[in-house]
Amino acid sequence: MILMKNIIREGHKTLETVAKEVKVPLSNADKKLLKDLLQYVKNSQNEDMVEKYGLRPAVGIAAPQVNVSKRMFACHVQDFDGTLYSYALVNPVLTHKSKELIYLPGGEGCLSVDRETEGITPRYKSVTFEALHYDIKSDQLIPVKLELEGYIGIVFQHEFDHINGILYTTKLFDELPHAKPAFEFHLDQNIETVE
Ligand code: ZN
Repeated sequence: MILMKNIIREGHKTLETVAKEVKVPLSNADKKLLKDLLQYVKNSQNEDMVEKYGLRPAVGIAAPQVNVSKRMFACHVQDFDGTLYSYALVNPVLTHKSKELIYLPGGEGCLSVDRETEGITPRYKSVTFEALHYDIKSDQLIPVKLELEGYIGIVFQHEFDHINGILYTTKLFDELPHAKPAFEFHLDQNIETVE
């Protein structure tokens, strides 16, 4: 299983490297990594596991963060209406992005960044990713087209940036006059940060 000690941090070259396409059919090593990535995120949302293994809570993690420079990431995150987005993606392609920009009002965070950061990060209000989703139960790669908005879209964009060698710390701004907060209508909700 992936632990915090397996996660590389800011300054490591792999986090600044554009990751390579994954060969399909998947190798057993790639399948195991996809499982482990998704499992880390799930474990990190379980209080007992967090305490037992000293995990930092997250809603997503990308292969480069465990020093594997391949185009894979996993997200396990619930939207405000309770819809669960649980994916282990291979070779995702951003096929659509809105002109409108949004940002997380509290700023983003990252398992690979150990310091508090100041500032907000511009993200597209809506995005479409086409990818292969590795369905662990059936051991199948399933083509998916994910149309994502708001907070969920931000989470996936953060992970997609990782496979392009981009950390959110390179995109921090004091203000973004042309972007809107992602939570304008959800100020009463508990605001999670992206990891
Ligand atoms: Zn991150």
